[in-house]
Amino acid sequence: MNNTILKNGLVIHSDGQKREDILIENDKISAVGDVQDVVTDIKVIDCTNRLIFPGIIDAHTHMGIPIKGGNSVDDFESGSKSALNGGVTTIIDFTVLGKNQTLWESILERHKHAEKSVIGYDLHCNITRFDKNILKEIPKIINKGITSFKVFTTYKEAGMMLTYNEIEKVARVVSDNGGILMVHAEDNNVIEKASTPLIEQNLTDPKYHAIARPAEAEKIAVENIANIAEKTDCEFYIVHLNTARGLKIAKQSNKIFVETCPQYLLLDDSIYERENGQMFVASPPLRKPSDCEALWNGVIDGSVDVIATDHCPFMLKDKPKGIPFQNIPNGMGGVETLFPVMLAQFRERKIDLSRLVQLMSTNPAKIFNLYPQKGTISVGADANIVIVNPDDILDNWTDKLVSITDWNAYSEFPAVFPEKVFNRGKLIS
Ligand SMILES: [Zn+2]
Repeated sequence: MNNTILKNGLVIHSDGQKREDILIENDKISAVGDVQDVVTDIKVIDCTNRLIFPGIIDAHTHMGIPIKGGNSVDDFESGSKSALNGGVTTIIDFTVLGKNQTLWESILERHKHAEKSVIGYDLHCNITRFDKNILKEIPKIINKGITSFKVFTTYKEAGMMLTYNEIEKVARVVSDNGGILMVHAEDNNVIEKASTPLIEQNLTDPKYHAIARPAEAEKIAVENIANIAEKTDCEFYIVHLNTARGLKIAKQSNKIFVETCPQYLLLDDSIYERENGQMFVASPPLRKPSDCEALWNGVIDGSVDVIATDHCPFMLKDKPKGIPFQNIPNGMGGVETLFPVMLAQFRERKIDLSRLVQLMSTNPAKIFNLYPQKGTISVGADANIVIVNPDDILDNWTDKLVSITDWNAYSEFPAVFPEKVFNRGKLIS
């Protein structure tokens, strides 16, 4: 038996905080509250002056995927180890649909990679090709337990885009079968119009990445998705939403969940002018300070539903200075710093920590059918638990990282790293 009792911690729930004890038996939480009667063979951890959170869920990661001729650095093993170090005990990653693959084949292939994960994982099913067979397959995939699909309104050149018309057809089938449709919402026409003249004039420094993919692209795409949601009654989830205007439109629909990421809350497009600006190139690009502010307001007022990372790291050597923006591998790492950096921000900005639990644990668990096994500290849930000393705010912390990557976008921000993490009942410290 592997039994532990966490005594006297302040447990942060999605609906409030409470000083209570937690009993862990094997891989589950078996009691919450006053559990001091338990006497048999048990390890006691004193959590006085500690905050206790449910395990963090990063609902948006890309472990080891091909991008522009290379591969993002982490595989499921290294990525999940670094996730765990930062308090993330569940990741939801995406399938990669091969040219002649069925959706189901793409899922089986991704599972093979994901088996190496040291934490719980789940998969979203990417739909990057449209035909009748794909539509027919969707109900079967939902029957097999994968309920979230993702489409792209851009990346036409990479052969990944679906037209709005095709997305509407997918949405009907997903909706009829009780699934949810995730969207990378940047309008491809707007991007083509903005980027073509830049590339023709050889204006290819990193700062042009943001100009090539303007905020207008998100506005148009989110407007179209809101219309499709209205017509089809499908539930949508906009990944990495990043503009004030996009948020305003998404908020008006009660069929759309909104995800944003730490990079869109904390970093703005002036960063592309830095010496290492190319390292921050990811799509969608970083935006204006006013967009960051609007997103923070959404975090506070509830119009943002989830904070996840879009974790897709590259090494310094993969993004050398001087390559044109259109050839830079897109993406940044973030799974390991998601919780530590956000927790420090929530404290600094005096935002209720229950909001953090909602955004980074309970909401993603509910939206993606993992609740109440995950996303909560309650009886019967998986014993995924994060313990922190809230006063342990560090300004220099990069030596705490176990990631195999050699660069982190958030090193200038304070962070609070977990003191202890339980991964399905197993203590990692
Ligand atoms: Zn992504």
